Amino acid sequence: MRRELAIIGGGTAGLFLAAFLNTDIYNVTIYEKKASLGRKFLVAGDGGFNLTHSEELSSFKSKYTPSSFLDIALDHFSNTDLIEWLLGIGIPTFIGSSGKVFPEKGIKPIEVLKCIEAYLIKKNVKFKFNKTFSDWGEENSLEFNSNEFIKADYTVFALGGGSWKVTGSDGSWLDVFNKKGVSTLPFKSSNCAFRIKWPEKFIQNNEGKPLKNISISLQNKVQKGEAVITKFGIEGNAIYGLSPEIQEALVIENQVVVYADFKPTLSLSTLIEKLSLSRSKTTITLKEKIKLSRTVIEIIKVTLTKEEFLDVEVLAKFIKKFPLTIIDLAPVDEAISTSGGINLNAVDSNFELKKVKNNFCIGEMLDWNAPTGGYLIQACVSKGVYLAHQLNNK
Ligand SMILES: Cc1cc2nc3c(=O)[nH]c(=O)nc-3n(C[C@H](O)[C@H](O)[C@H](O)COP(=O)(O)OP(=O)(O)OC[C@H]3O[C@@H](n4cnc5c(N)ncnc54)[C@H](O)[C@@H]3O)c2cc1C
Repeated sequence: MRRELAIIGGGTAGLFLAAFLNTDIYNVTIYEKKASLGRKFLVAGDGGFNLTHSEELSSFKSKYTPSSFLDIALDHFSNTDLIEWLLGIGIPTFIGSSGKVFPEKGIKPIEVLKCIEAYLIKKNVKFKFNKTFSDWGEENSLEFNSNEFIKADYTVFALGGGSWKVTGSDGSWLDVFNKKGVSTLPFKSSNCAFRIKWPEKFIQNNEGKPLKNISISLQNKVQKGEAVITKFGIEGNAIYGLSPEIQEALVIENQVVVYADFKPTLSLSTLIEKLSLSRSKTTITLKEKIKLSRTVIEIIKVTLTKEEFLDVEVLAKFIKKFPLTIIDLAPVDEAISTSGGINLNAVDSNFELKKVKNNFCIGEMLDWNAPTGGYLIQACVSKGVYLAHQLNNK
């Protein structure tokens, strides 16, 4: 007789779990709070839809915090496995210049989702929409919409993180898990904007301006990429990857200084040499010889005294290590992802809740961090596929 397996949450993690479960041994039902599947998956597709990243697996794994927590799942189902699987269901992908993996040009996010959904329907996975998990009932039955109960042999929660509530992932389940004795942590914004108090005159002229080909560092971690100046502060892939370190630092102090390198391709000594040899005015040299943008030049000018600006060594040091003082994270709902949720100590290596046997948690609802660029979706996919493998062997 087939056993009943309930997946609660029809987002990335829940969908991939369902796709790899053996429906000869399980009746699989996805219970989803919204009226359709994968709303955050579609939101992710609104910008650049990075399904995964093409980087070699050992450095891929190093992108996750805490380190090594995803190793088993990634070894079981890697970025190349995902690319191959997607191709198998009719979604060819391509690798962009940054190494990120996108659906082939012309394939819309909704088509990717529909292909996955069609695959699940063929496998006889059932969907129940407008079902909000509200609590556990007697003998760990599952309560939906505060008055409907169902019983499952195995339950997998894939409820998502705490941002973009409009997609259904609103984190309102934290209290229910707490009440059950499952250790949880408040959600924190990751891959988000970081608040910087820009000088008034600078932000008036530079709101929305990009800082291209820079790097930003904190402690020993360096992120290369681009950032955008906003009224709130700064955001972009040159800083998203520092989210765990910034979050941690802001718990201890009410501000944290990160350092921007506005010219990562030039060493300090080469920069000093170039600045020293130039006969033009400093601003013209910065623009024409060093090729700094107007925005970078202005940020330097509003920060340095006139004497510092005209001192080649001081100026070069600031270009290579410019302090940016971060005083806050963006509100949780605006973040691309969140950390917090279910404490990793509350689950075992198969993502089973230690306090509620035969109940599992996967995806962003667990407390981990990774930069955007495909690492978030891949983590949710790999956890789902890995757990499916474990459950298929039960
Ligand atoms: C703007 C934006 C851009 C992004 N871009 C990328 C990108 O390019 N690449 C990348 O890798 N990642 C990206 N992400 C992140 C990625 O989309 C998520 O990390 C991933 O979808 C999380 O998957 P999940 O299954 O854990 O949760 P979700 O996909 O959020 O799914 C959780 C599901 O659970 C349902 N649910 C919640 N509570 C209940 C309940 N009580 N009862 C029943 N159902 C419930 C929700 O309605 C939801 O459908 C982006 C995110 C955002 C917001």
